[in-house]
Parts: sequence; structure tokens; C-alpha cells
Amino acid sequence: MKRILITGGAGFIGSHLCERLLKEGNEVICLDNYFTGAKKNIVHLLDNPYFELVRHDITMPYFIEVDEIYNLACPASPVHYQYNPIKTIKTSVMGAINMLGLAKRVKAKILQASTSEVYGDPEIHPQPEYYWGNVNPIGPRSCYDEGKRCAETLFMDYHIQNKVNIKIVRIFNTYGPNMNPNDGRVVSNFIVQALSGEDLTIFGDGTQTRSFQYVDDLVEGMIRMMHTPDEFIGPVNLGNQNEFTMLELAENIIDLTGSSSGIIFKSLPKDDPKQRQPDTTKAKANLNNWEPKIQLREGLARTIEYFQATLLTNGRQKIRINA
Ligand code: NAD
Ligand code: UDP
Repeated sequence: MKRILITGGAGFIGSHLCERLLKEGNEVICLDNYFTGAKKNIVHLLDNPYFELVRHDITMPYFIEVDEIYNLACPASPVHYQYNPIKTIKTSVMGAINMLGLAKRVKAKILQASTSEVYGDPEIHPQPEYYWGNVNPIGPRSCYDEGKRCAETLFMDYHIQNKVNIKIVRIFNTYGPNMNPNDGRVVSNFIVQALSGEDLTIFGDGTQTRSFQYVDDLVEGMIRMMHTPDEFIGPVNLGNQNEFTMLELAENIIDLTGSSSGIIFKSLPKDDPKQRQPDTTKAKANLNNWEPKIQLREGLARTIEYFQATLLTNGRQKIRINA
């Protein structure tokens, strides 16, 4: 049995990781400040004697004895990470320093949840790991993109200078149950809008693309990455290669929900990337033939089911979209 710390464990991806690692017989410590996460995502795990929940902010040091650390704490939706950009970059940078310091002291293996945003608005398509990216350092997305880039630098430097055992994964757009209905990201926005009979809000003309990965595929990839030999540190892209325009995504969601909602067009946020698709050759080669198993319509159907239940429990009036 390993003792594993998951920062951001009460968030969307973190809650799935907590559940999976507990199922595999580990002891899990979930650390979160509940900025965008919620206790309801992990409340069903609280009876498990091998699960511990800690309210803590990773911009402050944290002391514990663990074997592995998954560092996920950071708001991921543009609406939320731009709400307090200074806090976002502090979370990425000071959080990384605190968690790497912890890993160094207790000799834990540490995995960083980095992002496809390190590629910015990419000029190479699809994006391989050796591409350095096209990132605006002073735009509205910079607090997140540059924070995550700096965190990758810190991970590499702690590895080289202090021999910390690190792993870096670059996560592409991921969706699934436990997303916050008010999250502001496109999949949750469109599903909640479709289920509520509101028009789906496409930003720009809807021709921009993203490649959407179902959360179970990501969690599998992250765990396989943690278990790779020490000399393999990444970075490794984790994402689904099937690429869709936002218009195609909206049409699929309207179709799957059977909604009578229409589509309206709003202005495109500044620096919104035009295209994004992972090159997953490296993941497949190094993570025991890892590849996403759940394709868009199946994943959307499961996510719609989750949001249907959430809307029924919480009532429509509590759902407010940040679009
Ligand atoms: P999320 O917002 O649901 O989860 C983030 C969690 O971190 C939340 O529970 C939040 O309360 C917590 N948190 C934020 N700041 C914190 C702090 N200072 N101290 C402690 N906890 C803090 O987002 P998510 O989609 O689950 O993303 C998890 C991680 O994966 C993030 O690091 C994100 O950057 C990365 N990622 C996600 C995606 C995606 O598409 N979902 C893509 C790329 C990278
Ligand atoms: N988007 C949209 N309508 C929404 C929310 C987002 O058209 O209600 C677009 C957004 O402009 C972007 C894409 O969907 O082009 C993905 O946005 P998201 O915030 O989910 O993720 P990211 O931009 O970080 O990839």
C-alpha cells in the first residue's frame, strides 16, 4: 500500500484520481482549498479509512510523509483562472516549489498536471512535446499558461539539481462527471445550456478546434505515467486525437440531449487558441500502449447523464453559467 497525496483532489480530475487510487488499494490524502473544487465530489469517499481530506492552500508549505504526489491544484477554466490571475500564478509557481520541496525532503515521486496551454496558440499541428509553443506572456491567459510553463521549469530544475523523481504530463481538454456546472468550460457550458433549454453560446464563429478527452482515459494515463521507470520523466501529452470544431461539439450536444436549444454567437475571448490536437506518439510508446478508449459521443452521453442528475438535485435556479 502506497501513501499518495493528491493536491486539487476535490476538483474535477482530482476526485476521479482519488477514487481510482483508493480502489487500487492505496492510502490517499486529498488536499484542496475548495476554490473551484467541492466536497460533494469526494464526500462518498469519506467513510473509507484509507482516505483523508485536508483543507490547505498549496501556496503555503505542507508537511507530510508520502510516497507519491500528484500535483493538480490550480483552477483550470479560463473564467476561474482569470478571476484572480495573481493567485493563479502563485498557485502554479509557489505551489510547485512547496510540493517539490516536500518531494525532495521525503523522497517522494511527484507528477505535475501540466497542460496543452504550454503550446499557446500553436503554429505546429498536431502538437508534439518538442514544440516550445506560441504563448503571449502578457495576455489574459498568461497567468495560467506562463504559470504552468514556469512550473515545468521548476520540476526540471529540481530534478537536475536535487535529483527529485519527477513526471510531467501535458493534459489536453478533458471533460466528464464532476465538472462544476458553473465551471465556464465549453463542454459543461453547452451541456447545462442544452439541458436547461437555453441557447448554446459559441464564442467566435465556432471554427476553432479542441480535442476532447474523457476523464477516465486521462486518469489511466496519469497512473501509467507515475509507474514508468525513474529515467522517464516526460513531458508527455495526454489527450484524445479526435479534433472537433466548437460548432460540431454544440451540434453533438444538442443531438444527444434532444434539446430544443438553438446556438448563439458571442465574441471570441482574446488569445483564444484557434486549434489544438495532441500528438500522442510518445504516450503510446512509453505508457504501455496507452490510448484513449472513450470517444466523444460516448463520453458526452455519460457526462450528460451526470449533469441531468445534478440539475435534478440542485434545481435549475442554482445553475448559473459564467459565459
Ligand atoms: P478543477 O478546477 O476542477 O480542479 C482544481 C482543484 O484545485 C480544485 O479542487 C481547486 O479547489 C483546487 N485548488 C485551486 N487552487 C488551489 C490552491 N492554491 N491550493 C489548493 N487547492 C487549490 O480543474 P481540473 O479540470 O480538475 O484540473 C486539475 C488540474 O489539471 C489543474 O492543474 C489543471 O491545470 C490541469 N489540467 C486540466 C485540464 C482539463 O481539461 N480539465 C487540461 C489541462 C490541465
Ligand atoms: N467556448 C465557447 N463557448 C463557451 C465556452 C467556451 O465557444 O460557452 C469556446 C472557447 O472560446 C474555446 C473553446 O470553447 O475556443 C474551449 O474553451 P474552454 O474554456 O473549454 O477551454 P480552453 O480554451 O482552455 O481550451
